[in-house]
Amino acid sequence: MTNDKILFSKNDHLFVLLNISEPGEENGIPSNQYLVVNNGKGILIDPGGFGVMPQVLHHLMKYIGPEDIVGIVLSHQDPDIVGGLSSWMEITQAKIYVSKIWLRFLPHYGITDMHRFEGIEDDGDDLALNDVVLKLLPAHFLHSPGQLNIYDPLSKILFTSDIGAAEYQDGDLSEIFVNDFPQHQRRIEYFHRRYMSSNRALRYWLKTIKPYDIDIIAPQHGYLYRDEAKTGLLNWLETLECGADLLEID
Ligand code: FE
Repeated sequence: MTNDKILFSKNDHLFVLLNISEPGEENGIPSNQYLVVNNGKGILIDPGGFGVMPQVLHHLMKYIGPEDIVGIVLSHQDPDIVGGLSSWMEITQAKIYVSKIWLRFLPHYGITDMHRFEGIEDDGDDLALNDVVLKLLPAHFLHSPGQLNIYDPLSKILFTSDIGAAEYQDGDLSEIFVNDFPQHQRRIEYFHRRYMSSNRALRYWLKTIKPYDIDIIAPQHGYLYRDEAKTGLLNWLETLECGADLLEID
């Protein structure tokens, strides 16, 4: 699936979904890349693996040139997020934002220009983009020990990375939103039980995001959530046992 959809557009502010599959991976995990544009400058969120980079660039250039990408946020350290980063660093002057705990691991992706990185503290940070201040919110241990969410107060979209991520998209591929959360659970249940670290981490994250007025939850894989599906996801996560909760000792 290759697609791009404008999720929010008002005045000079855009929040765009770029949904791209790895080439040749018919059953592989499609990944969502997101672009926030404000007054002609952009932040690229989780640019994706090496294989998707040309397509992401192609779709992104409908909205903005690479020279106007001023920041790239990496929600965590995984290859489907960071794999294409050295190419992005060549064609942009963007600063790169990632949890401080991953800084010393990223050179293993062949990245040498570490002075362009800013390590984000464990309690998150603000990220200004012209007229808007994006919130980098911690979502640690979901699944990565250093995981960042991004909240955009203008669009009221919360990018959640792997939280809410579906391992596969089926049904109507032109649809980008979950329309029936109970049906959708089969796409996310194994992933969340196996990859998310614990219910305690989930409840801590729910407390972190509670102050924010959220219209759309936008994960790094699969369908997005709004309305009842958004509430359904948050309620489901509140009581989900996962990760270390499921280890039996005896
Ligand atoms: Fe991940």
